[in-house]
Amino acid sequence: MSPAVIPDPHKTQFDILIIGGGLVGAAFAQSLAGSNLSIGLLESRPPTAPSLDAQEWDSRVYAISPANARFLGAAWQAIPAERVAPIHQMDVRGDRPDARLNFDAIAAGRPELGWIIESRQLQYSLWQSLTEQSNLTLITGQLGRALTFDAETANLELADGSTYDARLIVGADGAQSWTRQQAGIDINARPYLQQGVVANFQCEKPHGNVARQWFLPDGILAWLPLPDQRISIVWSCFEEQAKGLLALDFAGFTERVAAAGHHALGQLQLLTAPAGFPLRLMRAQRWVAPRLALIGDAAHNVHPLAGQGVNLGFQDAEELARVLRAREAERDCGELGLLRRYERARQEDTLAMQTVTDSLQKLFNNSSRLLTEVRNTGLQLVENQHWIKRTLMRHAFG
Ligand SMILES: Cc1cc2nc3c(=O)[nH]c(=O)nc-3n(C[C@H](O)[C@H](O)[C@H](O)COP(=O)(O)OP(=O)(O)OC[C@H]3O[C@@H](n4cnc5c(N)ncnc54)[C@H](O)[C@@H]3O)c2cc1C
Repeated sequence: MSPAVIPDPHKTQFDILIIGGGLVGAAFAQSLAGSNLSIGLLESRPPTAPSLDAQEWDSRVYAISPANARFLGAAWQAIPAERVAPIHQMDVRGDRPDARLNFDAIAAGRPELGWIIESRQLQYSLWQSLTEQSNLTLITGQLGRALTFDAETANLELADGSTYDARLIVGADGAQSWTRQQAGIDINARPYLQQGVVANFQCEKPHGNVARQWFLPDGILAWLPLPDQRISIVWSCFEEQAKGLLALDFAGFTERVAAAGHHALGQLQLLTAPAGFPLRLMRAQRWVAPRLALIGDAAHNVHPLAGQGVNLGFQDAEELARVLRAREAERDCGELGLLRRYERARQEDTLAMQTVTDSLQKLFNNSSRLLTEVRNTGLQLVENQHWIKRTLMRHAFG
């Protein structure tokens, strides 16, 4: 007979311990509110209240699909309306005047295609909703020192020596995931040798809530509508060019962005200093292991040209929560068989999005004359094929 287990009074035990309370980890925790599962969430850098000053805008913004806005529930509803911009149209252009693809909310029979929201507003709103969640304990300002797994539990030891047991660890700690490394899970990764250069601007002309995107010979440029006459840009381009853009003075950078977008919104005025983020394609070789599941950027990274990174992460969070809730009463939530249901349900969708964005990136960041012809013709073809447009819309806008 095995000896009775005497609980260690210095150890906290959870059903689920989430490592990383970024957008995806926080959304996952929120989606388990009201369940019988006890949850811990470790976040090393909890968000602080964002500025609501009309002059201050985060240059990290996300295009959020209607399906994910629904999933975010109360946290989404709590965001001040004046900080969110609906997207009514998407206007995608190639490098030939007739190469154009247009998505229109009215034509699709819906009020909007999605919304643009600042990262820090969404992050803070999610965090606020977590502070009121009765089955959740927030552990902040600490980093993990060791993570070990055995047949019955996973054990996390923090830098201050405190320890936590859980039946399931959820790694939501982003692209460089410490959790993934501790679990010994390898990745397949390919750097794009590109950066996403982001900045915000005030515009001379109203943007009409149109998200504009240009597939240019020297990169992919998106102008995303922010409230009033402001836009947030993401210019995905090769390292050399990104360095060149970031080295320009503000006036020079502004002129380059305005000219690349054919001065579509008149004069631009820079609101935030430009910043660059390295881009890569990445996929963890496994997303689950006994007592472990990876979600969001810890499991996969995609090129931002379709604005789908965090959206994929939210879908991971929703699916994992659905699988766990469905078996809440009868099964150990860290059991591999259960976790595999989540992995199977999400891998195909993510692979499809990685393949599409990777192929588009290859097709468009290429100066070959043949490929130039193919991509411009391709845009026209999609524009004229309503079923392809409908399929793309279903995927991109939920
Ligand atoms: C230029 C650019 C533009 C993008 N635009 C879009 C877009 O328009 N739409 C879109 O959907 N996606 C976009 N993305 C992708 C998006 O940024 C990511 O997919 C998203 O941020 C991933 O969220 P996450 O919560 O998984 O990871 P992260 O945002 O990286 O969050 C991880 C969290 O874990 C915490 N953490 C890390 N390590 C530890 C640790 N050891 N212990 C405790 N906590 C830890 C961190 O503090 C952080 O809060 C873009 C990406 C780039 C680079």
